[in-house]
Amino acid sequence: MKILVINSGSSSIKYQLFDMVHHTVLTSGIAEKIGEDEGLLTHEIYQSNEHTVKSVKTCTITNHRVGLIRIVDLLLDQADGVIRDILEISAVGHRVVHGGETLHSPTVIDEKVISAIKDNIPLAPLHNPSNLTGIEVAKSIFPHALQVAVFDTAFHQTIPIKAFLYAIPFDMYEKGRIRKYGFHGTSHAYVAERAAEYMGRPKGGLNLITIHLGNGASMAAVKNGECIDTTMGFTPLAGLVMGTRCGDVDPALPFFLAENFGMSLQEINTLLNKESGLKGLCGTNDMREVITKYHQGDSRAKIALDVYSYRIKKYIGAYFAILGSLDCLVFTAGIGENSAYIRNLCCSGLGQLGIEIDSERNSKAGKGVREISSLSSIATILVIPTNEEFKIAEETKKIIELRRQKK
Ligand code: ADP
Repeated sequence: MKILVINSGSSSIKYQLFDMVHHTVLTSGIAEKIGEDEGLLTHEIYQSNEHTVKSVKTCTITNHRVGLIRIVDLLLDQADGVIRDILEISAVGHRVVHGGETLHSPTVIDEKVISAIKDNIPLAPLHNPSNLTGIEVAKSIFPHALQVAVFDTAFHQTIPIKAFLYAIPFDMYEKGRIRKYGFHGTSHAYVAERAAEYMGRPKGGLNLITIHLGNGASMAAVKNGECIDTTMGFTPLAGLVMGTRCGDVDPALPFFLAENFGMSLQEINTLLNKESGLKGLCGTNDMREVITKYHQGDSRAKIALDVYSYRIKKYIGAYFAILGSLDCLVFTAGIGENSAYIRNLCCSGLGQLGIEIDSERNSKAGKGVREISSLSSIATILVIPTNEEFKIAEETKKIIELRRQKK
């Protein structure tokens, strides 16, 4: 069973083709700079000996349809293609950013679902339209294949109303759909499942905190396999300090900036989304550079690291409180998977909560799921590489199997 996973952005299409019988990835890549004078196609083939062969070429990619056709040509390539016929692709799994309140689990895409995704465009104006373009194009190129949507917001739909509602007039929720939605759901769901597997325990009865630290960053409190709170909100701007996003600030800040700095709404939007976070505090959004600067004695880099890790630690405490106890803390994504230094900063001083890192285990690099807690730590602390594309393929496969059973 071959499943193609697509993440269609405004000017790019990321893809991965999975063999879901053997749970392996066959090929992955990205068609980018769509609509520009010169597009870029990066294609990587995974060989059985764990080696990959990568090719990068420039070509015109006038629109998403052309982008996907170019990708299909690479998949079918006579010399080193991974399929002989597009009919081999049983399904296409689409990453869709916003499912709102109605689309709360992976779903076969039909006209109703398309109209619901359209309905959510005001909630994700930058993402849902490009996701929809990807769906339309994939439907026309793979008419035989099942099209499935997996939503970034879905995992957080179990959050109870006391945690998702903002204390603003209730009408704003009822009529304006303004509430916490949360994002990175596919990643949180994936690592939560892998954590339960590692612990050798069913999801029911497990209390987890999952910490996704990439360019965007968020945390989730997961009880019995269900998310009960997350740090991102109505938009991905809330919560943790990120590469360029500010995370939590006083909601009155935009008024102050407008009144006292003469900034327009657009300028404030750019300031908080693109010029803040690590970049705003110390000039770079790349955590590797922040840490290097800190080691070189840069005082701003130290402040940035302090603000960054303090916010995470504060949310660990908050989520411990709402979970009641903690079985497992999971670090994932670029920073969470690779920076022993940041993991240590976030967990230092949490011994009273039963959270204690073993510095030797923490500093060892490695692949796959790794345990970094000390023997005396009550909570198991894990590093789990996230794999959102695989999770989308897994969900798509589940849907295919369910439909086969029903027939
Ligand atoms: P995205 O959200 O774009 O998918 P990633 O999950 O790839 O982002 O994470 C990117 C972040 O991970 C960057 O800030 C990068 O500096 C950081 N990162 C990657 N490797 C390391 C490392 N070894 N140490 C610290 N940070 C790292």
